[in-house]
Parts: sequence; C-alpha cells; structure tokens
Amino acid sequence: MTKYRTRTQAIHAGESIDAATKASAPNIAMSNSFVMSEVSGFSIDAFGDNKPYVYSRWDNPTVRMLEDKLAILESAEACSCFASGMAATSAVLNSTLKRGDHLVATDVHYSGTAELIRFLRDSAGIEVTLVDPTDLGMIEDAVQPGRTKLFWFETPSNPLLTITDISIVAQLAHHVGAQLVIDSTLVTPIATRPLELGADFVVHSLSKYIGGHGDALGGAVLCTGANMKSIRDHERVHIGGVLSPFNAWLIARGLATLPLRMPAHTVSALKVAQFLEAHPRVTRVLYPGLESHKGHKIAKRQMQECWGGLLSFSVVDGKVLAQQMPTQVEIIHYAVSLGSHRSLIFWMETDEMLRSSFVLPPSLERQYRETTGDGIFRFAVGLEDPQDLCEELSRCLAL
Ligand SMILES: *Cc1c(COP(=O)(O)O)cnc(C)c1O
Repeated sequence: MTKYRTRTQAIHAGESIDAATKASAPNIAMSNSFVMSEVSGFSIDAFGDNKPYVYSRWDNPTVRMLEDKLAILESAEACSCFASGMAATSAVLNSTLKRGDHLVATDVHYSGTAELIRFLRDSAGIEVTLVDPTDLGMIEDAVQPGRTKLFWFETPSNPLLTITDISIVAQLAHHVGAQLVIDSTLVTPIATRPLELGADFVVHSLSKYIGGHGDALGGAVLCTGANMKSIRDHERVHIGGVLSPFNAWLIARGLATLPLRMPAHTVSALKVAQFLEAHPRVTRVLYPGLESHKGHKIAKRQMQECWGGLLSFSVVDGKVLAQQMPTQVEIIHYAVSLGSHRSLIFWMETDEMLRSSFVLPPSLERQYRETTGDGIFRFAVGLEDPQDLCEELSRCLAL
C-alpha cells in the first residue's frame, strides 16, 4: 500500500476481498471468539503479530482492518484501537508513566485529557508541569533531565487552536530522554503526520474527523512496534477497553472519505472564520488558517494549509448570546464534540473551564483569560454550505 497515494490508501489499506463470498465491501466480523485449528496457549504470551485470531479483546479482523488503514496513513509501524479517544489516551499515559515520573504537557487540552492529567498529578504521584507550547524557553525550563519521561502535546489544541512546532518539541523531548505524544485528533493524517516529524506516539479520538459522522466512539494509538508491546499486552488485553467491530467498521467507512472531507471542512471553516472576523460583534476569532492566528506560520508548514474545521470565537455579551443560542439555531446543533459532517457549536465559559478542566499556574491562567474573556464559542464547522452557516450565525449575532 505504501506505493499508493493518500486517497487510494484511505480506501483500500487494510481491506481485502472476502475469500468465501467475494464481497467487495468489508464484512463485519462480530464474532468474539474464533475457531482454532490447533491447540494454542490461552495467555497473553499466545498473542502476537500475525497469530491466528483467538478472542476479540486480543484482536479482531474488522478492528485490525481499521488499524492497518490508520497505520498506513500515519506512517506508523503499529496501531491499536480502543473504545474511545480517552481509552487510547489513558493507555499511553499508563504505559509510559509511573509514580515519581515527571510529565510536561501543554497548558490547554481537550477537557477530558486536562482532567485526567490533573488526576495523575493529584492522585497518582506524577509530577506535572504545564507549558505554553509556543514558548520554547518555558519548555526548556520545565524539563527535569532523568525524571521527565513524557511530553504530552495537543496540536492544534482544543479549544484554543494553539499550534505546537512538533519537530522542535520532539528534539527538546529526546534531548532529555523523554518521549513525545501528539494528540492529533484535530488535524488528522491528511494534514500532519507527527511520527514523520519526530513524535513517538500519535493519539486520535476516532469519534471526531476520522469517523467523521458523529455516530461512533473510538480511539487509536500509533507508535513503533516496541512501544506498542506493553500497550497491546496490558492496556488493551488486560484493561480491556477495546473497540467494537461494528464501530471499527463505521469508522473505517468514514475514514475512506477523510481525504475529501478535510479540505471541505477547511474551505468552509476559513469562510466562516473570515465572516466572523469581519463581524462587529465578534471580538476574537481563533483559527489557524487566519493570518491573525499566532501559530499561522508554523501551521502553514506543518498542516499543509489544511487547517481543519474547528474554530473558536468570542463576542460582545457572549454569555447572553450563549443562553439564546440553543433555541435560535436551526441547522447548527448546539452540542459538544467536533469532526462530524454536522456543524456543532458550544459555549465554553472561562470560569467553568478553569475550575473544572484546566488547572493552570497563575501566568498561564492570566493568558487563558486574556484570550477567552468570559468565554468562547467553540464552533465545529460541518459540511453544510458555508453560506447557510454564515447566514445562521449572522441571525444569531443580531439578537
Ligand atoms: C474528543 C477528543 C478526545 C477524547 O476522545 P473520545 O473519543 O471522546 O474519548 C481526545 N482528544 C481530543 C483533542 C478530542 O477532541
């Protein structure tokens, strides 16, 4: 598959024509158990690459089809899928960190990740330093040679769309013997392949752009075969948060059109971002495709101008508008999540975010407040006609 280009890989990688039926589209192997042709062990030692299927918590043909597709698209040696993005996130954190280790993480993340990192700090004996990923001096000051084991960076970050320069941060991590994880959910392999830029792990929530239709939860970890060993043996087989074959099938179907959907999300989101930037009630728009975005130059190189569909914006009297929005929108759903073909908007109040999700040191908290004011709308631009989206936003902003 490596000889083919991305669009071809997204459709054909991992798939094979069913020998018995000659079905062109993949079947779903719902079976949790597989008939064995010889006596085999029943422990984790019996599980490995290219072993026959035994039990679906170890390995399943439909899940493996999705894993093979993702591995090709991310240029990864190995991929393991999980029941959700958070299960994939936990798998990497659990397999790389132990009590007493030090973790360097970006200041702003997907809220579930931020809450989990907070838990690791407060209850699992992991020391955590949060850094502004655009401030390389701050990252250098944060590392503790010998103790820093992991860097956890999300780029673009949810919800502020902060951009990390992956190659530079990978060098900083490797310099002190730490490994770098990139949560690449917002950008997908269509625009950025973090492993090629030096990252050690890529994590995805497949519930977002990769699945793409808002109808299945899933997660994935991609890394070298050596790093995958403990993730597969322990985090997957023993902790057991595996992806269902049905969800794997839905997500693989979505993934086949990812190379077409990401540029379409990008075109629409840029139109919406420009519309918002010109609107008198809008005070700030955060979108990596805008020249005004702090990370635009890095994003231009690293994301190949495929900026994705997520943007955030603040407006005059945001809290008032947030209360009106749920009943005023028609085609835009007032809902959490992102990456669906449907547009989703959600108000994220600053005080609440700082209380429940992020625990920032004072300088970074000040920076967050300066960026978001009393709150921001996170808008996941879907695949509707962007003109219809702008007209609906325009009607809301006039309230
Ligand atoms: C949604 C999301 C996650 C968590 O994924 P789930 O599938 O909801 O568990 C992690 N990281 C980012 C950036 C996300 O947007």
